[in-house]
Amino acid sequence: MRRYSAFAIAREAARYHQGWERAWASPEPKKSYDAIIVGAGGHGLATAFYLGKNFGITNVAVIEKGWLGGGNTGRNTTIIRSNYLQDASAAIYEKARGLYETMSQDLNYNVMFSPRGVIMLAQTHHEVRGYQRTAHANALQGVKTEFISPQRVKEIVPIINLDGPRYPVLGGLWQARGGTARHDAVAWGYARACSDMGMDIIQKTEVTGVRKENGAVVGVETSRGFIGTKKLGIVVAGHSGVLADMAGFRLPIESVALQALVSEPIKPCMDCVVMANTVHGYMSQSDKGEMVIGGGADGYNNYTQRGSFHHIEETVRALVETFPMISRLKQLRQWGGIVDMTGDRSPILSKTPVEGVFINCGWGTGGFKAIPGSGWGFAELMARGYSPLTAEFGLNRFKEGRFIDESVAAGVAH
Ligand SMILES: Cc1cc2nc3c(=O)[nH]c(=O)nc-3n(C[C@H](O)[C@H](O)[C@H](O)COP(=O)(O)OP(=O)(O)OC[C@H]3O[C@@H](n4cnc5c(N)ncnc54)[C@H](O)[C@@H]3O)c2cc1C
Repeated sequence: MRRYSAFAIAREAARYHQGWERAWASPEPKKSYDAIIVGAGGHGLATAFYLGKNFGITNVAVIEKGWLGGGNTGRNTTIIRSNYLQDASAAIYEKARGLYETMSQDLNYNVMFSPRGVIMLAQTHHEVRGYQRTAHANALQGVKTEFISPQRVKEIVPIINLDGPRYPVLGGLWQARGGTARHDAVAWGYARACSDMGMDIIQKTEVTGVRKENGAVVGVETSRGFIGTKKLGIVVAGHSGVLADMAGFRLPIESVALQALVSEPIKPCMDCVVMANTVHGYMSQSDKGEMVIGGGADGYNNYTQRGSFHHIEETVRALVETFPMISRLKQLRQWGGIVDMTGDRSPILSKTPVEGVFINCGWGTGGFKAIPGSGWGFAELMARGYSPLTAEFGLNRFKEGRFIDESVAAGVAH
């Protein structure tokens, strides 16, 4: 595949853009593959990419029931940070954040990674103590964060109201190299690189069953027939329980709708990401000028990609307290995704009771930021049977009581 470059843009401009190749192929499925990944979201595509890049496994199919990146990967608010409390989490999220720094070069695809900084506001004394504790933990983990004063928050975000009617801003956890990236570009960049390695990305094909023999996987039933494999990676976010059911095991997962909205575009007014977890809302400004706003997850299980109306109201009300200047903005659009929540708010990257079947799920409200780290570790787990990045995130932790409690870092935040 031809490389994208300034020279290529100039060349194509001179010939009316007639020479661009398709970014990825749309092949017919083969009879079998060395590995199959179900789900062409960011995590599935990144897994396929690192299977090829790090382990030379390229006879791989990524099977997607809709279009690639059409799940949560194309629906999130793109916040990237690694300021988690527990060591296992900090390791995988920081690995991911580091890979985002060079992703555009590594994939030869502009994913618009923007390390503009992320502040998590502390608006109660409990939060102050919690975030100070996280800052200390991050220092030990080698993750650069700091707890900053309200005055410093105001310097970084001049439009903020420090003295909100319910909760004053008492400080914040600041990660200067956190930020955002263009979410669908991440999926497209990985897809293009996978296709370039000879992998098959098979869209509009639903996996409807998992075929087993003697307790081991032998392939998947799909809407286009049976496809054989001895290694199956299930990476389907909000549908993880459905796929696990097909394979014959249960997951400690709940699926709920999480939603976001954007305002009409306005002039640049905020050049970092602000998360206000006590009042339950967060905001950044897109390159187009829209204020990108996200809120909490629905309080009941569902599979609707919409989210409930009262949540928008709550989120907007909360953010107007913190940023009064947004009160007269018009909402441009709203959407939802189905996220997969575990009890300890940490993901599952694990072998399963079915030999040859691996599961990557439970990223809940905050998996976009983890895509490259998750793909890196999960590919290693699938290729070698063990990865230091995923070792703590096994399914057994729920039986053994070894929870990785991230309810402060991930229960609300993204
Ligand atoms: C509104 C919202 C805001 C968010 N904000 C953030 C944020 O700011 N930062 C952050 O880090 N995270 C955020 N997240 C979470 C993040 O989007 C997800 O954790 C992440 O995208 C999950 O990626 P994935 O690849 O696992 O899943 P997905 O992108 O959902 O991909 C799974 C794919 O599997 C496919 N699939 C399902 N069933 C089948 C089947 N039977 N056969 C074939 N294919 C199937 C689906 O069609 C889908 O394309 C947000 C999520 C939402 C919904």
